[in-house]
Amino acid sequence: MNASINYIELSKSVQRDANNRLKHLITLEGLSRDEIIELLDLAQLYVRRPGELPARDRSLSGHTVANLFFEPSTRTRVSFELAAMRLGADVVNLDMQTSSRVKGETVLDTIYTLQAMHADILVMRDSEPGLPAHVAQHVAPHINILNAGEAHVSHPTQGLLDTLTIRQHKPDIKNISILIVGDLMHSRVARSTWSALTTLGIGEVRIAGPEHLLPPANEFYGAIRYTDVNKAIKDVDVVMTLRIQKERMASAHIPDDNAYCREFGLTSARVKLARPDAIVMHPAPMNRGVEITDEVADGKQSVIQQQVTNGVAIRMAVLTQLSRKN
Ligand code: ASP
Repeated sequence: MNASINYIELSKSVQRDANNRLKHLITLEGLSRDEIIELLDLAQLYVRRPGELPARDRSLSGHTVANLFFEPSTRTRVSFELAAMRLGADVVNLDMQTSSRVKGETVLDTIYTLQAMHADILVMRDSEPGLPAHVAQHVAPHINILNAGEAHVSHPTQGLLDTLTIRQHKPDIKNISILIVGDLMHSRVARSTWSALTTLGIGEVRIAGPEHLLPPANEFYGAIRYTDVNKAIKDVDVVMTLRIQKERMASAHIPDDNAYCREFGLTSARVKLARPDAIVMHPAPMNRGVEITDEVADGKQSVIQQQVTNGVAIRMAVLTQLSRKN
C-alpha cells in the first residue's frame, strides 16, 4: 500500500496546467488551503435545505460530462450526474458491464471514443491505482478528468464533501479533533478526507482500528494511532467510521462481523465517550450492525444524510471550477 505515495506524486504533477491551475481533480494532495476553501465556499452556495428545490445554473451549458464507473457506485455516480444536469450539461453514463472494455478495449480507447464524441469532462472510478493520472496524460488539452474513486488511493470529492460537512458543524477547524475509525488501510475516503483536513490545519487527527487495517506508518502523518477505540474516541468532536473494504482484502484478513462490531463498531455507548455535541459520519455504503449500529446511524448525532446532500453541492462546485479553466 506504500506505493500509493508514488501515484499521488504523479497525480499532483499532472493535474495542473502550465499556469499551475487545477485542470483535473485527481488528488487533494498539493491543493493549497485557499484552493480548498474556494471550493468549499462555492459548494456552500449550492447547498439547499431539505424540501427546497435544488440549486441550478447554466455554468456547464454546452459541456458534455461522461461518467465512467468501472467499480460499483450509488451516491457518487448519481450525485455527479445530478450535479452536471443541474449545471446545464449533457450527461452520459456508461454502463461498464456492457462497455467495450469487457470485450478487451483499453481504457484509453474508450476515452478516445468519448473524446471524439465531444465529451469534455470525464468522471472516472476504477480499482487500478494510477489510472486517472495515466488517462490525464493522454487526453486532449481541453478535457478535464475528475477522479471519482481510485483504488485505495484517492477520492477527492468525498474528501471535500466530508470537510464541508465538518465545517458546517464545527467551523473552528483548527480547534477540533476527529477520530477516523475502521479499515483505514484500504480507504481512499480516509486518505482524501485526512488530506483536506490537514491542509486546513485541523487541531487533532486520531486513527483507530485493528492493527492489520491501520495504514502504514508513513501515511496519515501526524495522526495519533490507537487500537483501542474506547480510548481513541474520548472527547473527540467528530467521529468518522468506515466500511470494511472486503473487496480489497484476502479472505483470511476479513474480520468476523460480530466480533468487529463489539471491538470497533460505533455503538451508542461508545459514541457517548465522545463530546456530547460530537457528529457521527460515514461515507456509505454502511454495513449496519458491523461498523455502525442502527441507533447511531439514524441517531441525532448522525450527519450521514447531510454528507450525501453536500456531495451534490461539492460536485457542482468542482465541475464549475474546473470547466471555468478550460
Ligand atoms: N463510497 C466510498 C468509496 O467509494 C466508501 C466505500 O465504498 O466504503 O470509497
